[in-house]
Amino acid sequence: MTLAHRLAQAGQGVTLIEAAPHLGGLASAWTLGDVVWDRHYHVTLLSDSHLRAVLSELGLEKDMKWVETRTGFYSDGKLYSMSNSVEFLRFPPLGLIDKLRLGATIFYASRVKDWQRLETIPVAEWLGRLSGRRTLEKIWLPLLRSKLGDNYKKTSAAFIWATIQRLYAARRSGLKKEMFGYVPGGYARVLERYEQVLRDEGVTIRLGQATRRVGRAPAGIEVETGEGTDVFDRVVMTVPAVVAAKVCDGLSSSEKALLEGVQYQGIVCASLLLRRPLAGFYVTNITDSWVPFTGVIEMSALVDRAQFGGHSLVYLPKYVDPSDPTFELGDDQIQEQFLSALERMYSGFGRGDLVSFRVSRVRHVFALPTLGYSRRLPAMDTTIPGVHVVNSTHIVNGTLNVNETVQLAEREARRLLAG
Ligand SMILES: Cc1cc2nc3c(=O)[nH]c(=O)nc-3n(C[C@H](O)[C@H](O)[C@H](O)COP(=O)(O)OP(=O)(O)OC[C@H]3O[C@@H](n4cnc5c(N)ncnc54)[C@H](O)[C@@H]3O)c2cc1C
Repeated sequence: MTLAHRLAQAGQGVTLIEAAPHLGGLASAWTLGDVVWDRHYHVTLLSDSHLRAVLSELGLEKDMKWVETRTGFYSDGKLYSMSNSVEFLRFPPLGLIDKLRLGATIFYASRVKDWQRLETIPVAEWLGRLSGRRTLEKIWLPLLRSKLGDNYKKTSAAFIWATIQRLYAARRSGLKKEMFGYVPGGYARVLERYEQVLRDEGVTIRLGQATRRVGRAPAGIEVETGEGTDVFDRVVMTVPAVVAAKVCDGLSSSEKALLEGVQYQGIVCASLLLRRPLAGFYVTNITDSWVPFTGVIEMSALVDRAQFGGHSLVYLPKYVDPSDPTFELGDDQIQEQFLSALERMYSGFGRGDLVSFRVSRVRHVFALPTLGYSRRLPAMDTTIPGVHVVNSTHIVNGTLNVNETVQLAEREARRLLAG
């Protein structure tokens, strides 16, 4: 959407083709009970300057709410608050020396500039070296597994570096506190306004039309969807790399191999509407391996519950490999597994608290920052003249978030307009 916006502003005729019946992709909204909110949990940081500038153009930035949130840690069957330095120093699973080394690791990572060197070191090896064996096993490995599963073994230290950089960026933005923000109405409101702005700029938006083939034709670039075939001067594919590899007709075998070689991590993410709050932590990290989800995000610890009809909104994400059998489970099976675990974790929680439960499944969410990742990156300009592929695989020294995505789109728009 941002790419379309910038190209249209520069006077280009733009058509946006989207497979889903609505805009927004991973950031799209859906209905849970009577509530319309994001399908996946989203938060904005004070340091998200590119996103905030777009929200400002949409006239929404001034409405943003900024909140100081708390963080929880579920470890050895107990829930701890880890929201400030005092609570960190009290945290029982680690001894004082371990904690000092853990704190020093995070501080050191925030100061490292040469992320390319980190791409050559496996993440667990780097963290073990800096934090020590006990902290690696007690804290880092469970956290790595929670986001990467067994794929953490293939992942480089650049992954944890980028995560820590994002957290520190918020502090560097001036305020020492970490403030999390959201637009009242959520991404549904942002996307509705953005769609209107694009239409006003003359962008043609075609929804529910999966692109089946993109290839060279005598008059330009042919794009085939279920609705027929159109010809454009240039085409930018902003779909996952695996989709681009499948759809682009005429790629060389080496560029196809690079696109197909990107290893993705997927997600099965449940949204729960509850009658009561759970524990009041925006994020609860989990180190106990029996828990079937990999974190607890209590959105209503950040967003005013009035936005959810007075209810609490909780997300239970499970990050998995695209081939993981969890993708084959039905909603009922996932609901049963997840609710049983919640009952075990939170003594105050009972099934009677549940108002609504919905599951989102996405196989290609983010590219794993594997060892030497940036050296195997697919080019943005394909060998088919006029066909470009730009997506989150090109975020090489950051984490997947809307701010990075917007920044990438703006950089690419400038490059396309100049070329
Ligand atoms: C669980 C979760 C939590 C997140 N939390 C945050 C957060 O707190 N803060 C934050 O800033 N960001 C967050 N993000 C990241 C954010 O959602 C992404 O950065 C952003 O949505 C990526 O946008 P994109 O356009 O690059 O990709 P996508 O959103 O993946 O968009 C790709 C689009 O391509 C479409 N498509 C696929 N195939 C075809 C085809 N053949 N033809 C036509 N269209 C096709 C898809 O339908 C989709 O709309 C989160 C993401 C997830 C999954």
